[in-house]
Amino acid sequence: MLDYLGLEEDITDEERLIRDTAREFVDEQVRPDIGEHFENGTFPKELIPEMGEMGFYAPNLEGYGSPNVSETAYGLLMQELEACDSGLRSMASVQGALVMYPIHAYGSEEQKEEWLPKLGAGDAVGCFGLTEPEHGSNPTAMETYAERDADGYVLNGSKTWITNSPIADVAIVWARDRSSDDTPVRGFLVETDRDGVSTNKITEKLSLRASITGEIGLNDVHVPEENVLPGVSGMKGPLSCLTQARFGIAWGAVGAARDCFETARQYATDREQFGGPIGRFQLQQEKLAEMATQISLAQLLVYRLTELKERSDLRPQHVSMAKRNNVRMAREQSKVAREMLGGNGITTDYSPMRHLSNMETVYTYEGTHDIHTLILGEDLTGIAAYE
Ligand SMILES: Cc1cc2nc3c(=O)[nH]c(=O)nc-3n(C[C@H](O)[C@H](O)[C@H](O)COP(=O)(O)OP(=O)(O)OC[C@H]3O[C@@H](n4cnc5c(N)ncnc54)[C@H](O)[C@@H]3O)c2cc1C
Repeated sequence: MLDYLGLEEDITDEERLIRDTAREFVDEQVRPDIGEHFENGTFPKELIPEMGEMGFYAPNLEGYGSPNVSETAYGLLMQELEACDSGLRSMASVQGALVMYPIHAYGSEEQKEEWLPKLGAGDAVGCFGLTEPEHGSNPTAMETYAERDADGYVLNGSKTWITNSPIADVAIVWARDRSSDDTPVRGFLVETDRDGVSTNKITEKLSLRASITGEIGLNDVHVPEENVLPGVSGMKGPLSCLTQARFGIAWGAVGAARDCFETARQYATDREQFGGPIGRFQLQQEKLAEMATQISLAQLLVYRLTELKERSDLRPQHVSMAKRNNVRMAREQSKVAREMLGGNGITTDYSPMRHLSNMETVYTYEGTHDIHTLILGEDLTGIAAYE
């Protein structure tokens, strides 16, 4: 596997084991059928508990059954999952970084004890409801709201584009608390079998097809007081979760690009035209050289990002730079790999076109490429250019 600068020579034995275990898991259990799942618009749900057993959901958290692995191990795991398919990495990212992380960081002791072990084991599935039909890039303008009643809150509103909502047991719903003067955004744990909750599936997707996406409708949904995340108020809640997930995406995108590179390199060796392998043509070699260079630069970025995270010096803007760069890189390089495969490149028999299609979602979700550009622009100039 491409590691041109030998970055994986410095990982620990435990990190190598986690990388290899994930690689073996996807090769044996997912890769053989992933093209079919993509074509059919399905996710291999039966693997959700197995992924939990293997420690794929937020293994970098501490306690409540989580093994507390290093951030490098977590990154390598995301890389291996996305080398198979972004839908697989999205499952682990949402469950871990967007559902378990906020419960771990902001939940009550009771919430942690109730949810973290079963989410970690894959015995329950979670989803993260932030985006709304009219508010995507600007979630601050959200309309979903909560109002106090006798023993808790009543929620109303709708969320859309929510990964896993149709198969989720619990949703972290971000809503404005209208009972407080400044209507702060708060996080609510909403069990999806509560009266008034609907989770319709979005079926028309042409990207991230091996992932289940849906809406969350909230129609006078009552939740008790103990379902509020007590430890956070304001947009810091959802945004801090997104920083965790984007860190995993920056790593994952390298995996998708690496898989495209390896597929294209192999194809260039095997495929013969004009009396020999296409890999002997300078035009094809230039593509591989550029692909390997861009992947190596993206790898350097995530390794540095991880060092900063390990020593608590990571800023959300660092993560924006890495998400922005690495996803753009994977989007561009998957297209080049697709091209190198000629007609075969447009089928699900090979991975590049599937990765290319997936990258359209990854480029858009968790902050679009444009929004990360604006985050960096603001950080570099001190001037916000969102409005
Ligand atoms: C498959 C999939 C899964 C998803 N999963 C989840 C999930 O689990 N939970 C969740 O909450 N959300 C999820 N999302 C939603 C995702 O985060 C949003 O789609 C994303 O934030 C963009 O919002 P939008 O689609 O409303 O686009 P818009 O915000 O309407 O943006 C449209 C275009 O305008 C650009 N734009 C917007 N504002 C500006 C500006 N100020 N300056 C310049 N350009 C701008 C954008 O970059 C974009 O190109 C998912 C999306 C997809 C496609």
